[in-house]
This record gives sequence, C-alpha cells and structure tokens, in this order.
Amino acid sequence: MLREELTFVGTCDIAGLVRGKGFPSTELPARRKLGIGWTHSNLMQTCFGPILDTPFGTAGDLMIVPDPSAEVHVDFRDGSAPEHFFLGDVRNTDGTPWECCVRDFLRRAVDALKESSGLAVLAAFEHEFLYTGVEDLPGHAYSLSAFRRQGVFGEMVMAAIRAASIHPDSFLAEYGPRQYEVTVGPNAALAAADAAVIAREMARGAAFRLENRAIFSPMPVADGAGNGVHIHFSLHEASGAPVTGDPSSPLGLSAVAAQFAAGVLHHLPALCAVTAPSPVSYLRLTPNRWAPIVADLKRQDRGAALRVCPIFNPESEEQRATQFNLEFRVCDAAASPYMALGALIFAGADGIARQMRLPDTEVPLPGSLSVALDLMEASDAMKSWFGPVFFEAYMRHKRSEVAYVADLPEAELCGRYAEVY
Ligand code: GLU
Ligand code: MG
Repeated sequence: MLREELTFVGTCDIAGLVRGKGFPSTELPARRKLGIGWTHSNLMQTCFGPILDTPFGTAGDLMIVPDPSAEVHVDFRDGSAPEHFFLGDVRNTDGTPWECCVRDFLRRAVDALKESSGLAVLAAFEHEFLYTGVEDLPGHAYSLSAFRRQGVFGEMVMAAIRAASIHPDSFLAEYGPRQYEVTVGPNAALAAADAAVIAREMARGAAFRLENRAIFSPMPVADGAGNGVHIHFSLHEASGAPVTGDPSSPLGLSAVAAQFAAGVLHHLPALCAVTAPSPVSYLRLTPNRWAPIVADLKRQDRGAALRVCPIFNPESEEQRATQFNLEFRVCDAAASPYMALGALIFAGADGIARQMRLPDTEVPLPGSLSVALDLMEASDAMKSWFGPVFFEAYMRHKRSEVAYVADLPEAELCGRYAEVY
C-alpha cells in the first residue's frame, strides 16, 4: 500500500478534546517553528463539533506550535498508522502566547504559585473509563476475571504509554460494569497535564485498534457508574524537597499545604465550571458514588473533594514526606487537564497568598453546570486567572453547550456525551 507518514500537532482544548492538524512528517523540521494554522473560533468548537456562539467571528489567524517535550511517536505494530503527534501551544502569528492558550493558562498558574510561595506542584492523573470490548457481566468490580477479559487491551495501553515516555503506574478493573482505570506516575505540572492527555489518547488509540472504544465521559450511562479523573498532587520547594506533609498536624498537612487546600475549597464551587465542565459531570457528583458532593477535605476518604492520601509503610521520614500527597476528586474527562490542573493551582496559590484557613463548614458543590457557571461568572478571582478575553470565551462556549442539550432527557444526554468522550 502506498503510504506517507503523517504527523499531527494539536492541543487539548476547553472542550477537553485533542484537536489540531496533520502534515507530512518530512515537513517536521519547518513545522517545529511554524506550527500549524489555527483560528480564534477553533476554541469555540463545542464537544459536539459546532460552534454555537463565538466572540471571535470568522476572523483571525493563530498557530499551534509543537512542544518537543510533548511528542508522541508510538507504533502499535499492527500495520496501522503510528500515533505520531505533538501537543503544542496556541500562539499569535508573531509567536507570542495567545491569551486563550490552555497550556499557557497552566503555565501562568505555575507562575502564580511560585510567586506566592516559591513552590512547585508535582501531579499525577488517574483516569476512569468504560471499555466497550468486554461483556457486562456480574462480579466485574476489581475482579481478576474482568482484568483478564479485557484481553490484550490493558497491555497495549500500558505499552503505548511507556513508548510515549510516560511512566505507567497501574491498570485495573474499576467497580462499574465494564469500567477500567489507568494511572501514570507524577510529573511537574505541565508535563503531568501533557501525560494525562497522552494517557487518555493511548487508551483511545489501543481501543480503536481493537475496534472498540474507551469512553471517558463522566457519566456514560444515566444511573451507571461515574468516570472520575483524580488529580494527585504535592508541593515542593525549588530544590525538589517535598513540603506537603507535617505528621504532627491533625490531618497531616503542613501549614502551607493547608493554606493551598483552603484556597481550593474556598474557590471549589466556582472552580467546578472548569474541572467538571459538562452537564453530565453533575450526574456523577451525587451521593454514594465515591464522588464528592461538598467542598471538603478528609483523611483517606474516597467521598471527599480533597482526600489526604495514605502513606504505605514508609521506611524513613524522607519516604513518608515523598509519598504524602493530596487527591483532588472533583474532576472529569470533559475538562482539559491543562485547565483543571491550572485552576486547581491558581486556587491553591490564592489560598497561600491570602493565608486562608481551612473552613469549618462544608459548602455543597453546584448541582448543575449552569449553577457552576453562575458562580464562576461571579468570581473576580477566576476572572483574573483567565483574563477578560479568555473568560468571556469560556463562558460563552460553556453556556452555549448547556443551552444546546438543555431539553434532552437524562438517558439521551448521557448517550450524547458518551459518543463524544
Ligand atoms: N468512580 C468514582 C468517581 O467517579 C471513583 C472511584 C474510586 O475511588 O476510584 O470518582
Ligand atoms: Mg478509581
């Protein structure tokens, strides 16, 4: 078969989908600098495809410039076209960052944290999803049988993640019917978000090659199990020294980590508009799903918004400090990992800058994306993190999505999102 190798450059946009363009791989040397052409209203493409509303019209040119540290070149060795893509930055045609670039949003959050505390974040993402290549049989939850019945899919996903230079951590059958989970090791913020995008795409890529799907929608089936994205994170000094834990404090958190957590909890109801950014996200954030329903911080509790994770049999104080981490559980795969992690870090940095204290009361999380967007609209802090142009674009994108699916009954709504994610 006559073939020519292609390379793709893209970004995981505010719809949480990787979009971009391909070109002959022979053009890569030039494309490293020029990137590919993009336009402002690409940002306004909803997860369903159409642009329903846009402040940008049809005018303007941008470019997505590949980041050499976010290159994936994975050959599944089945004769299919290799996965060769770069994640990149959306820039103005003069090369400056575009104010609505999601990777730049995360970079600005990292800078805000550095400014308020001199600290950096290490993060690792867990992804839950439904794999369509197995039968829905009883007794699936965490079972060896469910682990086995996915066949070679798990091996393909883990091999692909490793081939993409990311450290695969675990693969398991989750508690829902046909539900699985893949996790990767920790990384600095931007690399962690890149790794999250790549891990998801490798799962989709492996499933695709087996003529199946990996469905990451927060709620693929109404009344089914929710798919969460859990973000583990810890704080570190510039030297790399971990500073999240203090075994002598009641929850085990250092003073600075408590302020970070207080910032996250303070902003959380509004933050949901970014970390749980689809109408179906709110079917997941309901009782008895091991998913959060209030803005709370709990030690080793899988129902909490922020979970203080366990430390497993540390052999030294150093190991205890390195293992200690928090888990943010109010996230799902409708969110771009850059946006979710960026919002989390901005909120934590604000907590440190304003020396916030952990709250005494637990505020409920919003019950719908509409309510979350109202809270975001009222948040001056979030306005400042986004900047005016990005803020308006984000609000219009998400409001138009809400309106687009407003009349769908729950089962159909879940079905539509399951097609997309
Ligand atoms: N599926 C649950 C969620 O929606 C989480 C289950 C777990 O703790 O791994 O977040
Ligand atoms: Mg899980």
